[in-house]
Amino acid sequence: MRITHSVLGFLVGVLSMTALNAQTTQPDGGKIRPGTMPVSWYSGGPKCMELPEWQAHEYNPDLYIMRQSGCTDYEQPFVFLLFGTQRALLLDTGSRNGNIEPEIKLLVHRWLMRNHRSSIPLIIVHTHAHSDHTAGDAALQAMNDPAIPVTFVAATVEANQKFYGIKNWPEDIGSVDLGDRIIDALAVPGHEKSAIALYDRQTAILFTGDNVYPGRLFIEDLPAYMKSNQRMLRFTAGKPVAHILGNHVGRTRTPYIAYTPGAIYQPDAHELQLLRGVLLEIEEGLESMHDKPQRIYYRDFTLWPLGDPTLKQELGSTIEETQRQQREHMWDQEQH
Ligand SMILES: [Zn+2]
Ligand SMILES: [Zn+2]
Repeated sequence: MRITHSVLGFLVGVLSMTALNAQTTQPDGGKIRPGTMPVSWYSGGPKCMELPEWQAHEYNPDLYIMRQSGCTDYEQPFVFLLFGTQRALLLDTGSRNGNIEPEIKLLVHRWLMRNHRSSIPLIIVHTHAHSDHTAGDAALQAMNDPAIPVTFVAATVEANQKFYGIKNWPEDIGSVDLGDRIIDALAVPGHEKSAIALYDRQTAILFTGDNVYPGRLFIEDLPAYMKSNQRMLRFTAGKPVAHILGNHVGRTRTPYIAYTPGAIYQPDAHELQLLRGVLLEIEEGLESMHDKPQRIYYRDFTLWPLGDPTLKQELGSTIEETQRQQREHMWDQEQH
């Protein structure tokens, strides 16, 4: 079919109007900075002698996702390093035996080299106060590198309120500007009382800590957790959400199948990233409990209220027993 110039002009006009309209429905639509997630993450094996302590993944040149090896600690948490034009932000410092300080030093120095800069201040913040996210605090505070002056924000309600400017905890939304990169901060108590979720406007990633990730979602305070989930839902409504990134992976690629608590080697793991829809699933699950805590299994995660102390004990002894058995074989684990 032949198209005359006037028809073509009309079509282009209609198309560009459509594109414009599509963008106006999302405040940041079309301006999101992209990145890539890895096909798979290292886990703790099969041969612990071969694995680095941390896997560093470049999401894009200004966002790095690191994962601690399961050979150093079964929690194998994720840690995030974001760069703005003025400051860098480290979200969490890893679990015990992480030895994170040399890893951060190396990454920041490489970034400085790549960007032809001599120094950048580093702010250390946390998703929450549990020891598998704060174990590297002391080593990083003592880093003493003139190229990387450190500002440390303790994992407490008070320190977070002050740093992000959250006047009324947990209702108000705070923020931090890394230089041409504003990160919104939402108080999300429930898994732990000082918990914070961060929304990076540049990449449209919502960092949810241990509140939301593919695995067992341990809930300490059910009413607070529910309100926090609603806060994340309300905040992200109408905004782009490229990924929800939590701090652990506890599920396999097979729907509903989790690893044994405490497992070192976790081959064929579920991907880290989740969609905003999981917040709606969580909302639905919490509502169905009618204030009576119960375990609910979903395709990619489990709601796991910790109200019953015997359940907590049972979980603790399962982790201990798994560790006792698996540590003996961690140098040469069975491949699946
Ligand atoms: Zn936690
Ligand atoms: Zn954790």
